[in-house]
Amino acid sequence: MMTTPIDMRSDTVTKPTAGMRAAMAAAEVGDDVFGEDPTIQRLESRVADLLGKEAALYVPSGTMSNQIGVRVHTQPGDELLIEATSHIYVWEAGGPAVLSGVTCRTIEGDAGILDVSQLENKIRPGNDHYVRTRLVCLENTHNRGGGRVYPLDKIAAISAWARKNGLAMHLDGARLWNAAVKTGIPLREWARHFDSVSVCFSKGMGAPVGSTLAGTKDFITKAKRIRKLFGGAMRQAGVLAAACLYALDHHFERLADDHRHAQIVAEAIADTPGLRLEFGKPETNLIWFECDPALGGAKIVAERLKANGLLVASLGPYAMRACTHLDISRSQAEQAADILRRTLRSMTPVG
Ligand SMILES: *Cc1c(COP(=O)(O)O)cnc(C)c1O
Repeated sequence: MMTTPIDMRSDTVTKPTAGMRAAMAAAEVGDDVFGEDPTIQRLESRVADLLGKEAALYVPSGTMSNQIGVRVHTQPGDELLIEATSHIYVWEAGGPAVLSGVTCRTIEGDAGILDVSQLENKIRPGNDHYVRTRLVCLENTHNRGGGRVYPLDKIAAISAWARKNGLAMHLDGARLWNAAVKTGIPLREWARHFDSVSVCFSKGMGAPVGSTLAGTKDFITKAKRIRKLFGGAMRQAGVLAAACLYALDHHFERLADDHRHAQIVAEAIADTPGLRLEFGKPETNLIWFECDPALGGAKIVAERLKANGLLVASLGPYAMRACTHLDISRSQAEQAADILRRTLRSMTPVG
């Protein structure tokens, strides 16, 4: 019997629900470049309010949102400080260099988390030989750190230090929603330590398209110009923003389910010989794990899982990731756990 595979490759694979599609179909729209799309305006002011910022801007992707943030905060020849496994540095096609003429100084964190002591000696001296250190970028939750929630006290310490030294702070909050639900700490409590915050609607929130960048009015005025420059100014995109508003109403609190389902999958990985959780028990919806090299590599293990009905991502020679999301029910998480156990039992180590 051929059934649809359980797709845990990413939390971006969700499809809009019937309710979300109905909200999209009913959306009031206008030309947003003319400032005439009421649904986009509603989303922007709602996100600004949730994040405790003066203004916000709807953009097509998290990558664009982050890269607009970098561009507004910097000049060519500046440098930003960032954890070495961050999305902005690793997975955005060299955006800071290409789009802003900015170098990235990378620092290795603990599961993506930096301590202020690691940053304190990283500001370049103020003379003609050096780049100008301008910006600190953090990621919460940190994807390549197993979806780790950035401890708020660490953020507060880094932010206080950055402000004292005249550096701007940008948050890649693609999954800030998950951090807020996991800890119960409101979005604006996280956001107040940053000059700009990017949040994504196309991950756990389950919308098809869109991210929102928030900051001061002045920052967003500048960001709007850069959005135009990067080709991200859209017209009747209220149909998309309606999906994001729907997600805020219906898909935010339920992220707790994804976190519970991740525990079910993680437990199976933890007690299956040949697999190992890379960062221990997951805190949120991302489960990074490694396979025993004797099994032939992540691609081979992923292929075998696929043949048994489970899709996961292979993201390195031995590194693998499974994500829980809106389209994974509790029973599918249990089935996935079962497929992991069964598949690994059937694999014989090579060599
Ligand atoms: C997915 C992701 C982004 C960017 O999202 P896109 O919409 O795919 O461009 C940014 N940061 C993190 C941490 C992400 O996981």
